[in-house]
Amino acid sequence: NSDLVLYVNLELVNLPQNRRYIVKEMLGQGTFGQVAKCWEPETNTYVAVKVIKNQPAYTQQAMVEVSILDTLNRKYDPEDKNHIVRILDYFMHHQHLCIAFEMLGNNLYELIKGNRYKGLPLSFVQRFSKQILQALVVMKDAGIIHCDLKPENILLCPRAKPAEIKVIDFGSACEEGRTVYSYIQSRYYRSPEVLLGYPYTTAIDMWSFGCIVAELFLGLPLFPGSSEYDLLKRMMEILGGQPPDNLLRDAKNTTKFFKQVGRIYSNSVSSAYRVLTEEEYETRESKKPQIGKRYFKFITLEDIISQYPYRNMPEEEISRESSMRKALIDFLRGLVEFDPVKRWSPLQAIYHPFVTGEEFKEPYKPLPETPRIPVFQAVMVDHNPGG
Ligand code: ATP
Ligand code: MG
Ligand code: MG
Repeated sequence: NSDLVLYVNLELVNLPQNRRYIVKEMLGQGTFGQVAKCWEPETNTYVAVKVIKNQPAYTQQAMVEVSILDTLNRKYDPEDKNHIVRILDYFMHHQHLCIAFEMLGNNLYELIKGNRYKGLPLSFVQRFSKQILQALVVMKDAGIIHCDLKPENILLCPRAKPAEIKVIDFGSACEEGRTVYSYIQSRYYRSPEVLLGYPYTTAIDMWSFGCIVAELFLGLPLFPGSSEYDLLKRMMEILGGQPPDNLLRDAKNTTKFFKQVGRIYSNSVSSAYRVLTEEEYETRESKKPQIGKRYFKFITLEDIISQYPYRNMPEEEISRESSMRKALIDFLRGLVEFDPVKRWSPLQAIYHPFVTGEEFKEPYKPLPETPRIPVFQAVMVDHNPGG
C-alpha cells in the first residue's frame, strides 16, 4: 500500500504552485490508459487522473480531449450547470500525458449491474435523461460530437449531489466538420449512419442517447449486436423499417449489408434496397455473420417497453407508470430514428413530455430547429425548461 506520488513537471504546468497527486487506487481502465483516484494534499481533495498510454497517437488524441473539454467547460458551461465533467489540470509525467478531472462516482453501467440488470425506476430514467440532454445541448451549441456516449461514460456525482450525473470521456470527441474517423462509437450504441459509413453529425450522439435511455429502463442494452450485421438486423427488427434510401445510396458500406432490388427514386413506396439474408451475407463476405441471442420476449419497441414486467408496484402507481411508458416509447421513437435528419436534436428532445414531466396525451411534435444561437449568447441561455 505504498503510495506512488506523481510529481508534476512544473515546466509543463501553467499552475501557480507545485502540485502533487498521490495515487490511492485504480478506478478504471480504458483504451486510452488508466484512471487513478488521487489525493491532492495542497487542496485536500480527491481527483481522478487519467494516465494516457505513452504512444504518440494516444497522446495526440488526448490533447484533443483536453482542448475540447477545456472549451466546453470554460466557454460553454462556465457555471458548471450542464452535466459535463470538469477538467482541472494536465501535465506530462514520465512521458505519459496525465489529465486530472473532478472526482466522480460509479458509472451508469455499474449502477445497472448493481441493480441486477432489472432496470431503473422511470423517475430516475427521466432525471438522468434530462441531465444528459443538457450536456448534449451544450455540445451541439459548441459543434462537438462526443462519439462514445454509453453508460460507462456517464458517471454519478459524489454523494453530496444524489441522482446527479455527468458525461465524461471526450477521448473520442471531435468537432463537427472535422470528422476524421469512420470507425467510431461502441457497437451497441453505434448509429446507422456510422455503421453504414455515411457522413455524420451531432445526431449520432442522439442515437446513442436513445439506446442509453432504453437500457436504463430495461436494464439490458436495446441493440446488443454481436457483429455489425447483427446490430443492423436488431435495429430493423425492433424499430421496423430500415435506413432511408438516400442514406443507403450514398453510404460507403451499404453493399456489405444490402442488396439493391429496385430503382432509387422510383415513385414506388417500397425501398430500392433489401437487407441481405444470413446466407447472402456469408457468400458476399466469405464469413458467417455472428448472431447473438435475443434478450427480450417481445419484438417491437412498443411491446418491449409496454410489456416489460411491472415489478412489485403498488396498484395505485400502475396507471401513472403505464402513461409514462407511453411517453417513453414516443420519446425513444424520436431518438432511435433511422434518418439522422428526422432524428430529434437535443433541444427538441428536452421539451418532450417524458423529460418535462407533463402529462403525455398525443405524439410529440417538436418545434423546428431554431438557427444556431451565437456563442456569446449561448453561455447565458438556460435551456432547462423546468428551471
Ligand atoms: P474508453 O475505453 O471508454 O474509451 P477511456 O480510456 O477513454 O475509456 P475514460 O472513459 O475517460 O477512459 O475512463 C475510464 C473509466 O475510469 C471510466 O469508465 C470510469 O469508470 C473511470 N473514470 C474516468 N473518469 C473518472 C472520474 N472523473 N471520476 C471517477 N471515475 C472516473
Ligand atoms: Mg470511457
Ligand atoms: Mg474513451
